Amino acid sequence: MLNAAYDCENIFAKIIRGEMPAVKIYEDDKILSFMDVFPQSDGHALVIHKTAQAVNLLDVEQGALSELTTAVQNIAGAIKTGLNPDGFRVVQFNGAPAGQTVFHLHFHIIPIYEGKSLGRHGDGAPADTDALEAMAAKIRAAL
Ligand code: 5GP
Repeated sequence: MLNAAYDCENIFAKIIRGEMPAVKIYEDDKILSFMDVFPQSDGHALVIHKTAQAVNLLDVEQGALSELTTAVQNIAGAIKTGLNPDGFRVVQFNGAPAGQTVFHLHFHIIPIYEGKSLGRHGDGAPADTDALEAMAAKIRAAL
């Protein structure tokens, strides 16, 4: 499962191509960050590379990985400023048995708020788009 070929029809590839909607936080020619539609906490963000067709961490060329992790740090900083969480997790799943459900390499940034438990990974109802947009606006303003 760690050797799966990249499938251009995965949902994140469709978001990159504009074939599926997403509440975007940041985009340039290489990086896209957007709100997770099944958030585990308020401000749960995803960061992906737009041109590296990597399924998981082992597939990605190191220059692209560096661009990705730099973006993760920048977005996490904007989440700190914009949403004022008490902490955050950076999570990244490799292979279905490890919990990966979308097979385009991505990093989760999951804000942690003291006293508030996290939702389950990839579970529950999709979040309200207006609520996601309001959080994304606060994050974008801090970038
Ligand atoms: P994985 O399980 O592969 O680590 O993470 C995939 C993430 O993508 C999950 O947290 C899931 O909630 C999120 N997700 C799945 N489908 C969509 C979608 O269509 N749009 C957005 N924004 N997030 C999605």
